[in-house]
Amino acid sequence: MSEIPFDNSYTTLPEHFYRRVEPAKVTGPKLIRFNEELAEVLGLNLDSASESELAVWFSGNELPEGSDPIAQAYAGHQFGGWVPQLGDGRAILLGEVIGSDGVRKDIQLKGAGRTPFSRGGDGKSPLGPAVREYLMSEAMAGLGVPTTRALALVSTGDLVFREEALQGGVFTRVASSHLRVGTFQYFLGQQDTDGLRALADYAIARHYPECADSDTPYQCFLGKVVEAQASLIAHWMTSGFIHGVMNTDNMTISGETIDYGPCAFMDTFDPAKTFSSIDRGGRYAWGNQAAIGHWNLTRLAETLLALFDEERDRAIPIAEEILGRYEEAFKEAYFGRFRNKLGLTAAQPGEVEFIEDTLSFMADQEADFTLFFRHLTKVAKGKAEEKWLALLREPSAGAAWLEKWRAFGEPDSELMASANPVLIPRNHRVEEAIAAAYKGDFTVFNRLTEAWRNPFAESSQNEDLESPPGPGEVVEATFCGT
Ligand code: AMP
Ligand code: MG
Repeated sequence: MSEIPFDNSYTTLPEHFYRRVEPAKVTGPKLIRFNEELAEVLGLNLDSASESELAVWFSGNELPEGSDPIAQAYAGHQFGGWVPQLGDGRAILLGEVIGSDGVRKDIQLKGAGRTPFSRGGDGKSPLGPAVREYLMSEAMAGLGVPTTRALALVSTGDLVFREEALQGGVFTRVASSHLRVGTFQYFLGQQDTDGLRALADYAIARHYPECADSDTPYQCFLGKVVEAQASLIAHWMTSGFIHGVMNTDNMTISGETIDYGPCAFMDTFDPAKTFSSIDRGGRYAWGNQAAIGHWNLTRLAETLLALFDEERDRAIPIAEEILGRYEEAFKEAYFGRFRNKLGLTAAQPGEVEFIEDTLSFMADQEADFTLFFRHLTKVAKGKAEEKWLALLREPSAGAAWLEKWRAFGEPDSELMASANPVLIPRNHRVEEAIAAAYKGDFTVFNRLTEAWRNPFAESSQNEDLESPPGPGEVVEATFCGT
């Protein structure tokens, strides 16, 4: 018999942490895709479930036994502005499972209707943003970047009204948890120190159990989140990824990437690049992400001060010391990844400057971020330099750079191949999949999902997916799709 072996823990927390909700009913749920590999890791027993049974569950039309649906409370800083109450307005947590790997995971429906946190919104999602999140989160997993995952995509058969009427979708997200910086901020905003302590204890038990034995568990905890986010953001940046909406409610405690709204991978390298149609000041541009990470973690630290020490004057220096570790952790991960991308093996003097110069060179030469390293990998393997040189605005400038690169010694081409993806989820392809999906055609979506599972593999069938957009295909902005 089909079943999801729920084992819910969030509902054991105090009642003001969440609200119980029921997903809305939809008219014509249809399963578009189900992630069987992930279902296996999660230990779901759904092998015998038919497509229509899966569609009924993963649209929210029927609740699987053992689910206990809730909307979680959280707050956050959006584009720097404080919002004391956000919460799951278009997401409903069905419950948690403990996977075959022993890891507890949340299973959450996105776009399954209104909750007490919906404010003016309808709690729904058009199909397009659901397709985007499926593609992007699975591609990130393929690239090895910590991320929430996609379990299922269902079309609802109902229309969702935005600027226009659009087909609706429900996306099933899996996460190590949905605890965010904003979850902690919610309780600080209410001056609820007991709530903060309960939340921190829960987060420690779930994500950083090694801190439970520490004499200073909350300090240990902040240190772990600092490390996890420094590493994550370095991974994004060295992949050419722009999150696009790094509000504190979109920063996890687990260190997983969450919220695939206005995100995108860059084609042409430009450190000031943003895609979000609402990010006019460039707050969340590629090159600002490291600093924003620190800003967000400072907001998390503020919520923990009372747990560090009753005396604020004593707590602040403790927080500052821990936050002070962020920069070094970030730099180590960031330069380490770029070192691998360039095939530099032993740490050598002048490397950091060379990496920084290389980024300036790429920007100046308007090089495609991914192809620059991809074709350099081929050069390292002894192939001709033409393809790499052709990526530069001025190919004649390439020889001098190659000479500087080679001065660091024989590049490790195997290391480069493991650090430089052949494929990234290019935005124009994502848009193509979304446009086709609205016409009822999911072949592009399915093809991309498959191709992006193994982004480091060379494949003649997917050569067309390596290319940046042609002149008519460039996507300048992506939208949150709320
Ligand atoms: P996000 O842009 O996904 O980070 O969402 C920010 C806040 O807006 C969260 O509290 C969401 O739950 C809420 N929200 C976004 N879209 C909707 C919607 N269609 N209906 C209700 N709430 C929404
Ligand atoms: Mg969000």
